[in-house]
Amino acid sequence: MSDAPFWKTKSLAQMSNTEWESLCDGCGLCCLNKLEDWDTGDVVFTSVACQLLDGDSCQCSDYPNRFDTVPDCIQLNLKLVNEIGWLPPTCAYALVRDGEDLYWWHHLISGDPETVHIAGISARGRTVNEKQVDVDDFENYVVDWPLTVGEQPKAQQR
Ligand code: SF4
Ligand code: SF4
Repeated sequence: MSDAPFWKTKSLAQMSNTEWESLCDGCGLCCLNKLEDWDTGDVVFTSVACQLLDGDSCQCSDYPNRFDTVPDCIQLNLKLVNEIGWLPPTCAYALVRDGEDLYWWHHLISGDPETVHIAGISARGRTVNEKQVDVDDFENYVVDWPLTVGEQPKAQQR
């Protein structure tokens, strides 16, 4: 029997609910507002976070009831992972979908949910709440740090 971890031996479609949930690294990047160019379809990230994102923990502050406040919150599932083009390159679902390994800072490898923050991957301390920004000003908050993946390739960090 293989000792390889589940994200290397199973496809996203084969994972149990528990495995699927554990794959999220808690970066909070998918809770940032994004802007789409209507002509090109290109999507850029902003540092303007969903009103329910806790900017320090990077967790949703009202996850069980979030749809009451944020009806367009996206519940990531297999279909959406395959359809969404804007998932950050560090998102574990995108990595596994693309046959990649997880990064050293992912809690399933490091054993520590803080390492995603220590490595500077998450949104911690870098966001402003959408309630504090006029939607017409979101374009002034465009950032590229959600697209960074750290300095070393995954293999060198294991
Ligand atoms: S971007 Fe991916 S890994 Fe990060 S919080 Fe969202 S779903 Fe989880
Ligand atoms: S409602 Fe919660 S999970 Fe959904 S985008 Fe906002 S902070 Fe993220």
